Amino acid sequence: MGYKSDIEIAQETVMEPITAIAEKAGIDPKYLEQYGNYKAKIDYNLLRETEGKDGKLILVTAINPTPAGEGKTTTTVGLADAMQKLGKNVMVALREPSLGPVFGVKGGAAGGGYAQVVPMEDINLHFTGDFHAIGAANNLLAAMIDNHIFQGNALNIDPRKITWRRCVDMNDRQLRNVVDGLGGRTNGMPREDGYDITVASEIMAVLCLAKDITDLKERLGRIIIGYTYGKPSEQKPVTAADLHAQGAMAALLKDALKPNLVQTLEHVPAIVHGGPFANIAHGCNSVTATKMALRLADYAITEAGFGADLGAEKFLDIKCRMAGLKPNAVVIVATVRALKYNGGVPKADLNQENLEALEKGLPNLLKHVNNIKNVYKLPCVVAINAFPTDTKAELDLVEAKCKELGVNVALSEVWAKGGEGGIALAEEVIRLVEEPNDFTYSYELEGSIEDKLNQIVQKVYGGKRVVLTANAKKQAAQLEAQGFGNCPICVAKTQYSLTDDPTKLGAPTDFEVTVRNLKISAGAGFIVALTGDIMTMPGLPKVPAAERIDVDETGKITGLF
Ligand code: ADP
Ligand code: MG
Repeated sequence: MGYKSDIEIAQETVMEPITAIAEKAGIDPKYLEQYGNYKAKIDYNLLRETEGKDGKLILVTAINPTPAGEGKTTTTVGLADAMQKLGKNVMVALREPSLGPVFGVKGGAAGGGYAQVVPMEDINLHFTGDFHAIGAANNLLAAMIDNHIFQGNALNIDPRKITWRRCVDMNDRQLRNVVDGLGGRTNGMPREDGYDITVASEIMAVLCLAKDITDLKERLGRIIIGYTYGKPSEQKPVTAADLHAQGAMAALLKDALKPNLVQTLEHVPAIVHGGPFANIAHGCNSVTATKMALRLADYAITEAGFGADLGAEKFLDIKCRMAGLKPNAVVIVATVRALKYNGGVPKADLNQENLEALEKGLPNLLKHVNNIKNVYKLPCVVAINAFPTDTKAELDLVEAKCKELGVNVALSEVWAKGGEGGIALAEEVIRLVEEPNDFTYSYELEGSIEDKLNQIVQKVYGGKRVVLTANAKKQAAQLEAQGFGNCPICVAKTQYSLTDDPTKLGAPTDFEVTVRNLKISAGAGFIVALTGDIMTMPGLPKVPAAERIDVDETGKITGLF
């Protein structure tokens, strides 16, 4: 049976003008800045100048995924469409897609099937230019660093200790490590350098966590770009403020800080804004976007990247804590294929019915449910995101097992049916958000870096303890001495496992997690704990998605998915 592709479904939709969507969301036209007919930015002064009751905050997260993604964005969008069908005033707040994955393996990030945000081509390609602005701010700082050294290096920056990298929004492994400044005395100081993908830049994390433009500028000023010459004990961090760069960087980001308004296929107002990597950064959309959705709607639905051990953990422990947000309910997306994957089925065989493996994978789902309910103390529901390849016996088994264990569960068919397919889930969510909750973080900020890591490993991952390598121990002591000891921790770890080993599936216990590297993102305000080599510049696969993307003489784009 043939299915329509995401882009075919998206292009068949008759969109409403963005002014009508804004009116529906209750946005005063004075805050609306149109980018053509179907996109607009919302002035952040809306948050300062309007007071009112905030809506309910709903987080969509997932079990440990297969490499293809489990449909968090799809479920987020479909759930909003379903709530609208039930007469509710609802908005979604999503991340912006990065060009890297669009042209690489994963494809776009605007939902799927009959649960998408549109115009999907624009959202997936350039959109309103936010990521390019972030790249420009990032690279302005890089240019100012090298110029400072060229002009005499009054700050005594050691070129071998520059941690700030250049960036571009593309999967381009060729740029991971470069030597620049070649060509003689007038062409700069030769040094080893490198590029990250824009979504991995600290500027992205800063933009997403900033409360307002003043906070943005202060955070930009705190960014550490490298260290001075000298013995380890004498080296001093050098910041963007030391280079007087934060004002110009903030000026470049003035519009990027404004959330973008679009619509779902069923014309629910959708904010799509910010897109930090979920490994090196916290992986959720901007604080301004989430707050705006809460201010404007009775229900604001948002998504956190990767599985709940990474995305939800960082959403709850970092973003909610920094922004003072309090979620009202959590949706955990599970798929039959991810459960079978966690039950040991190889990727190539996931389309075949396998009840035994499905049951074997269930502990992974139950661990995440348990974390949300008992660590974070939030109400939650499992959304089974139904795929066309799932058999009825498989879907029934997941539902029956959840019910047997007292876990709230709803089948979601939003990919195939749009909002109509999400009614059961929507009803459950509407009920859950009314339950009082005692939202708690998984760790407190006081205490050593190692303490905080131990709490995450033990409570959230279900492991025995964290092990710091000798190198990481030294870095922890240094960071604590520099006054960063009470920052929240952003763990960079595989998304495929609750452990730091992507091959350990299901719900392992008794394991150790090894942290090899600790670094401070002083602008973002968190410590990144790296558990292995972490990819900050992906590469393209053997056959990149880019080979199938095209545009015809009318300007119509094909091949996006
Ligand atoms: P995530 O946000 O978890 O990464 P997405 O919602 O982006 O996942 O979905 C990943 C991919 O899987 C998309 O291409 C989407 O079209 C597809 N997809 C999601 N849900 C379904 C489903 N129920 N049936 C078939 N394909 C799906
Ligand atoms: Mg997504």
